[in-house]
Amino acid sequence: MLEIMERHEAAGERVSDLTDRVASVQAKVDDAAARRTAATGEIDAEIERLAKEREVVAGSVPADLLALYDKLRGQQGGVGAAKLYQRRCEGCRLELNITELNEIRAAAADEVLRCENCRRILVRAADSGL
Ligand SMILES: [Zn+2]
Repeated sequence: MLEIMERHEAAGERVSDLTDRVASVQAKVDDAAARRTAATGEIDAEIERLAKEREVVAGSVPADLLALYDKLRGQQGGVGAAKLYQRRCEGCRLELNITELNEIRAAAADEVLRCENCRRILVRAADSGL
């Protein structure tokens, strides 16, 4: 009888210990879920803000250029235009050869340039390496 009572007491302590551990793990799960919900809300708000920003910028781009950009974006994994940075297309990461760079140098400032490799629209900047 004494042995049974001791085993019962030990089992009760084990149940209590495991119950505490379950509660601790559940608290961590709840905390992670709350952080996930907050992060999702922040991401949704940022998506909304960026979509409005994009709408404003897209409104200032000529319709034919915007159509080309959207078409390329669909074909090129979401990136229709890339910066020309240090003689390299930031879209495909390939360096342009001297002939291509000379053509870009000679092009008018408002001419739409394309990468010969990936066909994305190339955007010139001060650090393009021209
Ligand atoms: Zn490219």
